Amino acid sequence: MGKIVEDGMSILNPNIETMDRKKLLELQLERLQMVVNQAYSNVDFYRKRFDEIGLNPDDIKTFEDLKRIPFTTRKDLMDNYPYGMFAVPLRDVVRLQFPLGMYGNPIVIGYTREDLNIWSELVARIMVGIGITEHDIIQVAFNYGLFLGAVRFNQSAELIGAAVVPTSIASGEVQVRIMQDFRSTVLASAPSFALHIMETIQRKGIDPKTLSLKIGLFGAESWPEEVRQSLEENLNIEAYEIFGVTELIEPGVAGECLAKNGLHIFEDHFFPEIIHPVTGQPLEQGREGELVLTTLTNHAYPLLRYRTSDVTSLNSQPCSCGRTLARMSKVLKRTDRMICVRGINVFPEKVEEVLSGFEGIGPGYSLTPRGKRGMNDHLTVGIEASPKILGGKEQERISLKQKIQLAFRRAVGIGVEVEFAKGEELS
Ligand SMILES: [Zn+2]
Repeated sequence: MGKIVEDGMSILNPNIETMDRKKLLELQLERLQMVVNQAYSNVDFYRKRFDEIGLNPDDIKTFEDLKRIPFTTRKDLMDNYPYGMFAVPLRDVVRLQFPLGMYGNPIVIGYTREDLNIWSELVARIMVGIGITEHDIIQVAFNYGLFLGAVRFNQSAELIGAAVVPTSIASGEVQVRIMQDFRSTVLASAPSFALHIMETIQRKGIDPKTLSLKIGLFGAESWPEEVRQSLEENLNIEAYEIFGVTELIEPGVAGECLAKNGLHIFEDHFFPEIIHPVTGQPLEQGREGELVLTTLTNHAYPLLRYRTSDVTSLNSQPCSCGRTLARMSKVLKRTDRMICVRGINVFPEKVEEVLSGFEGIGPGYSLTPRGKRGMNDHLTVGIEASPKILGGKEQERISLKQKIQLAFRRAVGIGVEVEFAKGEELS
């Protein structure tokens, strides 16, 4: 499967991935007009939006016209919970996903069989692009319970004939044992968890050269370049990034190639824009701003100009790998207050929601993520507590802390440390 280009790099879908950009723009425009029509005809939310501002789907003839369509935000998705954003009847939907840790109403994302097939191909494109073949054994150490896209690695690996070992979040010891026994050649995980596995290997005094590992595929949280260097050196691998957006597909919107010089966005399925996060004005190419994506082929859940809150920049110059798809820079910042701990998204709004379920605490609180090398693996929640609680019995405070910790685990999916404080100590 795939075509080997001159320099030995492999491309799964060369017709698309190396398409002349003029032709690509034509394809995008054609698909854009289709998705706008589909959204207008089948999603009440979009029909109302368009009617309110007197916009007709047929008015969208160019990419310039796209700017006339208002942004779609996370709040819109919540307001239309559960099925208000769906463009197909439920009988055509074969997968429903709702990300934990969102605040307010949950978000439910639907996929048709065709949507899932496309998604699998996109992750497979990334795998092939970084040299994964049917000879590889991919150890998937993503949290299958909380990172909804983890299962996509299984489907995509099947597409290219590679073997998958879903180790999920088994302990570092177990991961290393499996890595040795099964001779895993690829590690796919959140970078913070890869660091944890790396430290286990070091603690056990294992020489990474004795492992079969050669490739790392990391995503679900942002990671600085120094983490890449550390993982590459200490695990004796080449490390690549895979990127996704929870509300569209995650992972699989974009991924790095062997050049490690930006993440190719799958522009045949997503139309990217970069906007100023405050004014909403589109920015010229190369400028850093908020990534806005329009889905071009989603059947069940089309999103027009969706604000991702991820900060990046775009580059459509040709890449040394031969791909013509634009590249986005590594996402290291967000426009909202979301923080990421061990690959799990934590919204401050969700924290407030959890705290509001208890008496005598809040409204003040503080979030202190901790971890090595700029990656968060612990979260301490400082909580304003009433004098009655602070001056009360130790046993009662411990019991309340445990209840709050349990509520966090249920609502956000991670364990946190809880500390009580006076309100003024938290500012
Ligand atoms: Zn490339």
